[in-house]
Amino acid sequence: MQYKRSSALFAQAEKVIPGGVNSPVRAFGAVGGSPIFIKKAHGPYLIDADDNTYIDYINSWGPMILGHAYPPVVDAVIEKTKLGTSFGTPTEIETKIAELAVSMVPNIDKIRFVNSGTEACMSAVRLARGFTGKDKIIKFAGCYHGHSDSFLIQAGSGAVTFGAPNSPGVTQGTAKDTLLATYNDLESVRTLLNANKDEIACIIVEPVAGNMGCIPPKGNFLEGLRALCTEHNILLIFDEVMTGFRLTKGGVQQLLGVAADIVCFGKVIGGGLPVGAFAAREEIMNYLAPIGPVYQAGTLSGNPLAMAAGLAMLEALNADNAVYNRLEEKTAYLHKGMAMALEKHRVVHTINRIGSMISVHFSKTPVVDFKSAAEGNNDTFKAFFHGMLKEGIYIAPSAFETWFITDALSYEDLDKTIEAVNVVAASL
Ligand code: PMP
Repeated sequence: MQYKRSSALFAQAEKVIPGGVNSPVRAFGAVGGSPIFIKKAHGPYLIDADDNTYIDYINSWGPMILGHAYPPVVDAVIEKTKLGTSFGTPTEIETKIAELAVSMVPNIDKIRFVNSGTEACMSAVRLARGFTGKDKIIKFAGCYHGHSDSFLIQAGSGAVTFGAPNSPGVTQGTAKDTLLATYNDLESVRTLLNANKDEIACIIVEPVAGNMGCIPPKGNFLEGLRALCTEHNILLIFDEVMTGFRLTKGGVQQLLGVAADIVCFGKVIGGGLPVGAFAAREEIMNYLAPIGPVYQAGTLSGNPLAMAAGLAMLEALNADNAVYNRLEEKTAYLHKGMAMALEKHRVVHTINRIGSMISVHFSKTPVVDFKSAAEGNNDTFKAFFHGMLKEGIYIAPSAFETWFITDALSYEDLDKTIEAVNVVAASL
């Protein structure tokens, strides 16, 4: 493979875009080398500027659960575009997608659409503060809820990949209201609750963590959070930006049977266009402007093209009762094949998986929280990443990310991927 055109495009981009990218993890900073510029994609494949083809395990970081250029989504967007791209007025399609989302997800009556996962989480926290009249929030080290100030305190994903989990520019005043607990550790939450009685508005959590690699909740972690929130009059926010419409139609609430008070969405809900959303029971959502006191708004929120893409995606997922089983089976197949290949070549590893989220940690201890995730061997990850890329397999360029499995993958694609792991593992 040669990357001549990608390298040239990156050099050009670096002159006018900081780091040459519009989102840090894309820059290959954690793995070294020059990022690859993609010009098109279809199904499970990416084609780069030099015409190399890859089997894709990033899938736009989650949205492309049915593959790239999924025809019903593409057609819906094209048809909507012809009617005008934005009006700044209410449109019928916003109600249609809202009705469908509310019917698919448990414990929500109303939903508000925004333009990104960051906006969804930021707005959900403001709503929780407004509703409870309290200021502080609890988040978990290694969880990522977007780049809003309150969340850039020991955040995961790109924030940790680039070694700056606490960003300059976040004021002390903001940082002091974000309290940090340890994922999968209820005791750490109890300690914070006892030390901050009647001051905490909400606990925000990735109910399956995906931004320190994939880390499923252990034992009764989520049930415990639910009980503590109810006991202390605190709202429980599930950030289902990654897991929503991916693990089941109704997300983790449905998969594990734990109810949240506010749920945040992004990624799949927009079918690959910029969409986020947050939702809750009526009593909470009615606190939002224009009927309630908590202000939240957006010029392009509920944009017709974005809603058309999201609606086509949710309709496809809602109509296909077997899709989540197929995704589970494909991911389990990949899990088993990769584990065998890594074991054969005695590569120390732990694979975490739930549904169609999976990650390979080069670590021998179980990966259950940020500390154990950070213990993985980053040099092995770098070599693995570049080896896989050479074999035509595109995984996220950071050890702190989940692989996203798409239903567009065939078993032949999965076998090719497992064979690539075999080749790369032999060289590690
Ligand atoms: N929450 C979670 C769980 C995420 O994974 C992400 C993005 N990876 C976000 C929030 C932020 O979403 P966005 O990048 O769309 O702002």
